[in-house]
Amino acid sequence: MFRKFRILLLLVVLATVGLASWRASSRLTAWQHTVHVALYPVAADDSPETQRYVASLNQESFEEIGEWVAAQVGRYGKTVLQPVVIRVAAPLRELPPAIPVRGSGLDNILWSLKLRWWASQNDAIAGPKPMVRLYVLYHDPARTPKVPHSTGLERGQIGIIHAYAARQQHRQNAVVIAHEMLHTFGATDKYNLSTLQPIAPDGLADPQRTPLYPQRQAEIMAGRIALAVDRAEIPPRLADTLIGSATAREIGLLN
Ligand SMILES: [Zn+2]
Repeated sequence: MFRKFRILLLLVVLATVGLASWRASSRLTAWQHTVHVALYPVAADDSPETQRYVASLNQESFEEIGEWVAAQVGRYGKTVLQPVVIRVAAPLRELPPAIPVRGSGLDNILWSLKLRWWASQNDAIAGPKPMVRLYVLYHDPARTPKVPHSTGLERGQIGIIHAYAARQQHRQNAVVIAHEMLHTFGATDKYNLSTLQPIAPDGLADPQRTPLYPQRQAEIMAGRIALAVDRAEIPPRLADTLIGSATAREIGLLN
């Protein structure tokens, strides 16, 4: 009896969460008003380098992302002046719940609920209520040369992003942040999850190019510039990426 009740309760919670996020995502993909995005920096380790870096972040640190979105949205004929405004919150002291490693479907559902709950407890920011919340976990590259995978909840408007606490990595971090942010707008990955190679044609910035390789830019949801059919590199900055037509369709920029 109690077990049945718990399952019922979980289903009600999921249905409520599902409806709320469906409403939110239709507002996100209308491209008529500014979408307010809150970015919460979090130091993922206790390295003094990380602390220093996180303390140095301010509003200007992420302006490049809003400008890039505006330029991309403009390419698709939308005239909204500032489609996305990213506001930076004070650094958080608490880490979000860890993603289950090789978890079952139920583990992942429970994790996504825990994450939503955690985010609702850690979303203080001045100004209008954010529609998207991005938690950026900074790692000292000397301690963590390879950061864990980032995740953007497609239905939940929450992104968990792992980034490097280093000046030289700042612009590449922006590429990862933009990618995860677009997941929260409904964009899907366009690379092969095991080889990390962009999938043609949707994962290529210019699928009409002849010869097809090397590509000169990356499609943002493929995340890499395809140099050959089996070779790709991470773009150094957002200016080397674009929103391709398949992603544009997913996020409401193309009908
Ligand atoms: Zn992704």
